[in-house]
Amino acid sequence: MNVLVTGGAGYIGSHTCVELLEKGYGVVVVDNLVNSSAKSLERVQQIAGKDLAFYEEDVRNRGAMDAIFEKHDIGCVIHFAGLKAVGQSVSMPLEYYDNNLNSTITLCQSMKEHGVRDIVFSSSATVYSGDNTMPLSEAGSRTGMCTNPYGWTKYMCEQILRDTAFSDKDWSIALLRYFNPIGAHPSGLIGEDPRGIPNNLMPFISQVAIGRRDHLSVFGNDYDTHDGTGVRDYIHVVDLARGHVAAIEYMLGHRGESVFNLGTGTGYSVLDMVKAFERVTGQKIPYEIVDRRPGDLATVYASPDKSAQLLGWKAQYNLEDMCRDTWAWQSKNPMGYDS
Ligand code: NAD
Ligand code: UDP
Repeated sequence: MNVLVTGGAGYIGSHTCVELLEKGYGVVVVDNLVNSSAKSLERVQQIAGKDLAFYEEDVRNRGAMDAIFEKHDIGCVIHFAGLKAVGQSVSMPLEYYDNNLNSTITLCQSMKEHGVRDIVFSSSATVYSGDNTMPLSEAGSRTGMCTNPYGWTKYMCEQILRDTAFSDKDWSIALLRYFNPIGAHPSGLIGEDPRGIPNNLMPFISQVAIGRRDHLSVFGNDYDTHDGTGVRDYIHVVDLARGHVAAIEYMLGHRGESVFNLGTGTGYSVLDMVKAFERVTGQKIPYEIVDRRPGDLATVYASPDKSAQLLGWKAQYNLEDMCRDTWAWQSKNPMGYDS
């Protein structure tokens, strides 16, 4: 079966392309490279030892999407394409709503026209409200009350897809809510390559380690957690990528809408991450405690039980693996794909 992967040149998309190719799927990537490099796809093919098809197009371009569906016999779509920087979404809300909502709508219209009804969507733990108790579960935790436009785009895209599945029972829609993907392919050939100053913790730590940044700013040490710093559910990106393959396999036998958390169920604090990274890599990470980052919660982690039961998927890699593979990527590619 051929899988159309939108945003396939990006961080999670490129790792998912490797897993799909290694499982024997044909892969067709659409990416406008707004936040990625085509070099990632050369590396994907090098790792898998197989070719994929790549189109440098915007998913909002209906004509381009129709042409791709006409050219390739697509069985299923994984929709990663989207803008993802929380802070930027606050200053550029219209760009975020336009890109993330219109890409989803145009993609579904083109799928419908071409008889493709299976879609896996990249959602996020950010769709859960801030007032839930942990762990977050698909059926038991509240969603909504998002704290930024990025989160609302994920919430709204989930609703658009849910309504689409409700309108026509042939659709199968898997909404995958990612927790905190980190790490890289163990080969060190592909990984996360943020543009500008990283917003997320792990890319920041690894850029301190390689000497691109002086020190890490730890956003608050007065949270109600074991050491006062924020706790998150970090998941190895290869485990996350495998969750997509499991979702595709599940969807073959199921119609309608399904929601799955992709997390490990274990939370680590910022200082746990710093210490683990130092221990595994031997690199010192100087840090400074600064004010809390507005909008941050003390603790966020998943219940991965539903994914384990229905997808037969569970994260395999541990924190040491995540740190080791992040460092393999960063040390081999100090400036990312431009190294
Ligand atoms: P990424 O920026 O590395 O990948 C997204 C890709 O989509 C990029 O290659 C970008 O060029 C492409 N793209 C964006 N808009 C496009 C458009 N209109 N047409 C074609 N291509 C377009 O991000 P990522 O970390 O790989 O995230 C993938 C998806 O997962 C995103 O939807 C993101 O919101 C979601 N997600 C990511 C995280 C995370 O922490 N990385 C967490 C939860 C959800
Ligand atoms: N964090 C930090 N310094 C940074 C980036 C992040 O202390 O430079 C903290 C942040 O406050 C949170 C955790 O690290 O507690 C994870 O943040 P990230 O932005 O990676 O993920 P998210 O907050 O979206 O879950």
